[in-house]
Amino acid sequence: MRKSAKVNQVILIILDDVRAEHLFNLMREGKLPNITQIAEHGIICESCVTSFPSVTLPCYADIITGSNSGYYPKEGSGVPNYHWLNRTDPPSEKKKPPFIRNYSKRRGIFKINKDIGSNVKTIFEQAGDGNFLSATSFLYRGSTFTTSKEFKAELILKRIEDIYNNPGEIFADKEIPKISVGYIPHTDHLMHERGFDHPDYINLVLDCDKYIGSLIKTLKDTETYKDTAICITSDHGNYKAQKVYDLEPFFQEKGLRPYDPKIGAGDFDANLGGVGFLNFKGDTWQHHPTINQMKNFKPSGTGSSSLDLFKTLSEIPGVKLMYYGDDNNTPEKGIIYLERRDDKSGKLLKGRIEYYGIGKNQKTRYSFESEDLFSYVKYEEANALLDNKFHTIDEWVGATSQIDFINIIDQLPRHFKNPRSCDIIISTVGEYCFNYEHGKTKGSSLYSHDIALKKSMTVPLIIGGSPKIPILELNYCKTTDIVPTLLELLGFKPDQSVVGKSVLDYD
Ligand SMILES: [Zn+2]
Repeated sequence: MRKSAKVNQVILIILDDVRAEHLFNLMREGKLPNITQIAEHGIICESCVTSFPSVTLPCYADIITGSNSGYYPKEGSGVPNYHWLNRTDPPSEKKKPPFIRNYSKRRGIFKINKDIGSNVKTIFEQAGDGNFLSATSFLYRGSTFTTSKEFKAELILKRIEDIYNNPGEIFADKEIPKISVGYIPHTDHLMHERGFDHPDYINLVLDCDKYIGSLIKTLKDTETYKDTAICITSDHGNYKAQKVYDLEPFFQEKGLRPYDPKIGAGDFDANLGGVGFLNFKGDTWQHHPTINQMKNFKPSGTGSSSLDLFKTLSEIPGVKLMYYGDDNNTPEKGIIYLERRDDKSGKLLKGRIEYYGIGKNQKTRYSFESEDLFSYVKYEEANALLDNKFHTIDEWVGATSQIDFINIIDQLPRHFKNPRSCDIIISTVGEYCFNYEHGKTKGSSLYSHDIALKKSMTVPLIIGGSPKIPILELNYCKTTDIVPTLLELLGFKPDQSVVGKSVLDYD
């Protein structure tokens, strides 16, 4: 064991799409005895705050790197969303039109290993030499990837057990892995298909507890439990929208044609759940449009009339919020414009986020014209940050972790400074789920995750196992704190790209 270390190895288990509130309620009901056993003798947090948008990628990438999206040529994971358009900065001179990254495509998920770029490091790349194991963790850079022959949740954690029993199967020196990451995507599949309140989803979470119980037994049998940290978390929570709506006719009527990356033609590219991310053609498809270009946009599908896209998008049913960046933004400094349509009065409320600095040094200031767009004024701690001063990510997380629009002031600049970001974000605040991807409405599920509301933004964090791990209950923390915490337990310091801090350093 390293001199400053508390454990020899860590196992990080990510159950996709498990809301903090749901997991801790199941624990209180006595339905998750094995996870509870780990939690009772270790670190717990019922308000571990994930990244915005609260979708699998970037949230899962942010757990593995300890970083957020950002201006990836210099900093950040560079993965702004589950879908993005590859616009570069400066705009690429290549003739080829920018591609659409969609991680749902066959084998698309593995592309994340390159997409995160060289300015961030995975947890494996930050922990010195040794054996590193990814049990179906698709972001595996720096480790040995292994998966079960049959793609089942049960067998994914079993792979970690197998390797603890027989490390020689994949590691020549026969040493057990210093870091193992087990990632279970199946919980997410069932959440979208059937919902967080469906017995099939709940039973799978209960089953995961059993697999974790089996893993604990193997660790005890192999006498490794006492110097292993087991961390259990999720990438995001979830919510149920009230309505679905098919947006295909809406865009057709406006004369807006979906972008086709094969030929570089079309007016827009979009993906919309409860939150929508929209890209529009600028000077070319390699360029982001200016605000003026978006105010006077000429769609290719109609005659001569031009559209004010901000007005057009506000006509989408349920749209309440709209965010977009200033034309002169740089990675180091800029402004994000915020608009909210008041439900009752129909009044348009305006605000802005100003930011400076990159990575963990980014600071942001939120201000508004007449009324607060996020109801922060109602809450003492959040209201205290509306003081016309710039604040850090930790200040925003601390002040908003128990309310809606968690940390959105910090997260929007990190999103928009990325050349791969969209041009306009709209939000129905979870009222609608559009299931719209790149010109097509796909399905009619009401269950989603993407919004900055607490139910979608908070995940469970539990770290236990070795008796050397302190017993600690945190009021809040961030998913980017997981990497520095696990590294500290192993006796390593995180890479400078890491935005989070060890939870052992929280007051
Ligand atoms: Zn997910």
